Amino acid sequence: MYNNSHKAFDEAKKFIPGGVNSPVRAFKSVNSTPVFFEKGQGSKMFDIDGNEYIDCVSSWGPLIFGHAHESILKSITETSKKGTTYGASTELETLLAKKIVDMVPSIEKVRMVNSGTEATMSAIRLARGYTKKEKIIKFSGNYHGHGDSFLIKAGSGAVTLGLPDSPGVTKNIAKDTLIADFNNIESVFNLFNENKENVAAVIVEPIAGNMGLVKPQKNFLNELRNLCNEFKSVLIFDEVMTGFRVAPGGVQELYNVNPDLTTLGKIIGGGLPVGAYGGKKEIMNLLAPEGPVYQAGTLSGNPLAMSAGLTVLDMLEKDVYIKLEEISKTIEKGWNQNIIETNTKAHIARVGSMMTLFFSEKNEINNYEDALDLDTDRYAKYFKHMLDMGIYLPPSQYECLFLSSVLDEKDIDHLIKSNRKALEKLKNE
Ligand SMILES: *Cc1c(COP(=O)(O)O)cnc(C)c1O
Repeated sequence: MYNNSHKAFDEAKKFIPGGVNSPVRAFKSVNSTPVFFEKGQGSKMFDIDGNEYIDCVSSWGPLIFGHAHESILKSITETSKKGTTYGASTELETLLAKKIVDMVPSIEKVRMVNSGTEATMSAIRLARGYTKKEKIIKFSGNYHGHGDSFLIKAGSGAVTLGLPDSPGVTKNIAKDTLIADFNNIESVFNLFNENKENVAAVIVEPIAGNMGLVKPQKNFLNELRNLCNEFKSVLIFDEVMTGFRVAPGGVQELYNVNPDLTTLGKIIGGGLPVGAYGGKKEIMNLLAPEGPVYQAGTLSGNPLAMSAGLTVLDMLEKDVYIKLEEISKTIEKGWNQNIIETNTKAHIARVGSMMTLFFSEKNEINNYEDALDLDTDRYAKYFKHMLDMGIYLPPSQYECLFLSSVLDEKDIDHLIKSNRKALEKLKNE
């Protein structure tokens, strides 16, 4: 069933470290080997063995309108006829910037980059330049791309020692990243107190999506806002995942809390590589060439990426979110019923079209510590059963599903029935 994928993976491993260009794609955390894809159309993806899947990952978020959407392809094609890059200014960049400023409540000015990682790295440099302070606070279990400052281990000894999470990150960099617990405001307050006058920024996934979906508890974001005001620190919402997904203006609109800076990615590229960071004029104006904080990019604001992004943001009318909510709610309801009727130790967390089915004894996952108790072996088996039935789920328990607006009734029915079969199989294993 996966012969060609197996062969392709063997070949890839000869030339690419681990055979993949991003670790999660190797399917290691589901004890398996990757599927190689040939094409996508609407809600479906097709692998190189000819198997068809309902895509529940949407390229980790960007494909909110599914694969190969006609209007998006058209805008990319039309733009590409005029050349693919100039390394110089275009009006498209201003149009997308204006659109982002209109949609995201706290953004007054925005700078384009090429990935989420670049956005978060640049945002903390800017925050440091603005506050003239050095340390940053991040939360265990939150992911902000692979910048050195963010690869600091979340968990016990390594945190307290300030040891880096990955070889290659120096101790000196690691010591400037302080780790707090998600949904625990006291842990943030304590870090502020211990590092008086030297915390440049707090960076947070305002709805965490990289330890499975974890919602902020009531007032957590408001209290973060207050602490940042009190200690004159920059509050950064990393909305690379949640931006334009949970609401047109992201989490800040949904929960009505304004950060100073916001990082974006995924959806704004319409499926092409884009990131962005933006916020208050007073801070953004410190960026070169207006100010002294340096940041640049040869392909930043690339015309193909800008036109794809603009087309997607233009399509994000209110009815899209209503539809996404209906689709996601139906799937959640069906799966929940299956969980209860098969007596499975699991539960679902969901905000709009982002959700995670957690295999856990707990009823709620509130932070990284809770997430460490998840039954990842069970998830691996579940993933494989679903894959065999033509459902492509995230190949890790610590990720969210990203549902697209093009899932139809037949897809939803298949998703619910397959989940039932998978849970029943798990019971007998
Ligand atoms: C995906 C992601 C990033 C990194 O974006 P890349 O484009 O993969 O570099 C950063 N922050 C969050 C919250 C993300 O989900």
